[in-house]
Amino acid sequence: MRSFKYYTATSWEDAVATLGKYKNAQIVAGGSDVLGWIKDELTGPGAPLADVLIDIRTIPNTSYINYDATAGLKLGALTTLTTVAESSDVQKNYPGLATAAVSPASPSIRNVGTIGGNIMQRPRCWYLRGANFPCYKKGGDFCFSVTGENQYHAILQGELCYIVHPSDTAPALISLNATANVMGPNGAKQIPFDQFFIGPRTNVLKETVLEHNEILTEIVVPPPAANTKSVFMKVTQRGVYDFALVSIAVAAQIVNGVWQDGRVVLGGVAPTPYRATDAEAALKGKKIDANVALQAAQDTLVKARPMSQNAYKVDIAKNIIVQAVTSLVS
Ligand SMILES: Cc1cc2nc3c(=O)[nH]c(=O)nc-3n(C[C@H](O)[C@H](O)[C@H](O)COP(=O)(O)OP(=O)(O)OC[C@H]3O[C@@H](n4cnc5c(N)ncnc54)[C@H](O)[C@@H]3O)c2cc1C
Ligand code: SF4
Repeated sequence: MRSFKYYTATSWEDAVATLGKYKNAQIVAGGSDVLGWIKDELTGPGAPLADVLIDIRTIPNTSYINYDATAGLKLGALTTLTTVAESSDVQKNYPGLATAAVSPASPSIRNVGTIGGNIMQRPRCWYLRGANFPCYKKGGDFCFSVTGENQYHAILQGELCYIVHPSDTAPALISLNATANVMGPNGAKQIPFDQFFIGPRTNVLKETVLEHNEILTEIVVPPPAANTKSVFMKVTQRGVYDFALVSIAVAAQIVNGVWQDGRVVLGGVAPTPYRATDAEAALKGKKIDANVALQAAQDTLVKARPMSQNAYKVDIAKNIIVQAVTSLVS
């Protein structure tokens, strides 16, 4: 393993300034993703190996959960997934987020992995994580998944690169209309998670709008509107300890079984968490039952363009939409 400098940040401003100083500096939070990347020496012209790691766990007051019925939920970016999942405020007011936070990996990884790191983790494409594949995402000029092993890749919105976004919490946060608080060289700013993730056509080398010297500091979730229900579901190949083949987060206001308004977000199907706006339109104003939910699923998946080995994901996605939507009225 190559050596690197290790820097302990004292404040968000300090971390931002240090990032600005070194081109190949990288933030480390729990380290569960970043250290694997460094250990495997994954690199390429578009993915230089970090030679400075900036530890943000040393910044005070960055791990917290504050809930207030008026202001909603505030999560410090350094809050571990376990802490989020076990919070009674999260469980009671945002059950979809609590389930999403307990879904990744194993208890030991959730005990160190932070909510900020879960949102910012890099994709899991095996060519990207393999040292000998200089693909587009590493700054190369080829996507190995197109003619190679693509069973876990995108069925929606893939072009140039066909990764799927790996985070379980990201779809849940988008379904709940959450916002990212970000610190950068010009101070703090807010970015709705709806606009946070970017696909390969926008920039194949990264997955979010954040610049090199910007850091996610806090996640803000508005208070749930009256009659809101939320759910997160995930289908995996292995029973435990596995990334989503397909996941779904739904948050909706439902009165007497009728969908007033809401969001449906899929994970594991596209390079970004996929907001299924066609499903949302099909559900609006309807009394929810299996037929209505199936129509919403079909309206969404009609846009799917599966690759040679992943058409099975289309059926999983349809079924999980029906299951998640109908679960809100059962
Ligand atoms: C075996 C295994 C199975 C897994 N299964 C799942 C799964 O099923 N579902 C799932 O969602 N995840 C899964 N994960 C991923 C895991 O949840 C993440 O590794 C973890 O959440 C990352 O958090 P961390 O704090 O350790 O991040 P780190 O490893 O410290 O950082 C991850 C990335 O985010 C950047 N970063 C971290 N914090 C910030 C911040 N505040 N602002 C800007 N950038 C930041 C880092 O620079 C790095 O690029 C799995 C991981 C492993 C190893
Ligand atoms: S899907 Fe993306 S990350 Fe995977 S090989 Fe193709 S370009 Fe690289």
